[in-house]
Amino acid sequence: MKLSFTLSLTSLLLAAGDVAAFAPGIISSSSGGGRSSISNGKSQQSSALSAERQPIMAGNWKLNPPTEAEALALATDVATRLGDETCAINGDEMDEASCTEVVIFPPFPFISKVRDAVQEAGLIVGAQNFYYQDSGAYTGSVSAPMIKSVGCEYVLCGHSERRTVFTDTDQGINLKVKKVLESGMKPILCIGETQEEFDMDITKEVCAMQLSKDLFGITKEQMKDVVIAYEPVWAIGTGLVCGSKDANNVHVFVRECLTKMYDEEVAQATRIQYGGSVKPDNVDELMAMPDIDGCLVGGASLDGESFARIVNYKRASVAA
Ligand code: PEP
Repeated sequence: MKLSFTLSLTSLLLAAGDVAAFAPGIISSSSGGGRSSISNGKSQQSSALSAERQPIMAGNWKLNPPTEAEALALATDVATRLGDETCAINGDEMDEASCTEVVIFPPFPFISKVRDAVQEAGLIVGAQNFYYQDSGAYTGSVSAPMIKSVGCEYVLCGHSERRTVFTDTDQGINLKVKKVLESGMKPILCIGETQEEFDMDITKEVCAMQLSKDLFGITKEQMKDVVIAYEPVWAIGTGLVCGSKDANNVHVFVRECLTKMYDEEVAQATRIQYGGSVKPDNVDELMAMPDIDGCLVGGASLDGESFARIVNYKRASVAA
């Protein structure tokens, strides 16, 4: 049912041949700009409008660990391993702004304490989910003001586990993306094809459709605070990792979509993470790709040593 809905819209998308046709609410103003120039960021040299993008690594703890004590121990371990060493370990002389941005997404009950444990090391916290209403009779929910008040700077939107297990729709994801931005936080919008869609060779169509629906009405100015995570669903938690060149090709395609929906400046400035079984032994190859700006890490973020190694990936210029 869901697949046939996807396919019928996909056919329309292909027929239209234009992603922007699915995003009529997008305002494409000429004002606003990309992120400030950051040395050692990623730049796309082939582009007429080259932008540098600060790397961003994120750890999604999902429904782990089971206790506050274990969450604190993990947070403290990660903060200790990273701390001031985050950039220096790669051998470069980099100022703070050029270091990799690191975000941890703990479960709700642990957010405050994890924030306290990691903030001195320069790590930030985010929320894995929230409900878009601010208050009211919504038993069991947490709101954007609540997560912001405990220090969340980022929010995951559209993670495949939310889409499948909790039946989050693109319309609902769009409401969340809007609310996150209106609340002064930043969404990491997760997109990506299922195994079935991969087998049908419709990865690009699925990503284009998710982008157009989930970013509906988001302005060019707001796009400065949006991070996209390309996460092939078949690679999440499975140990299967998308080949770095294949992943990069999808990232290039995402930028093509953003160019159509907004313009080249937004496409080049937007940071795009890869997610799906990222581990210490594959992160360097992934991060060497010109259009992969960071990783969204699940399983490996639950081990301090692994996550620290992922954050401290070998930058191409250093690894060579
Ligand atoms: C994720 O949770 O977004 C994820 C990519 O998980 P894993 O790294 O375990 O595949």
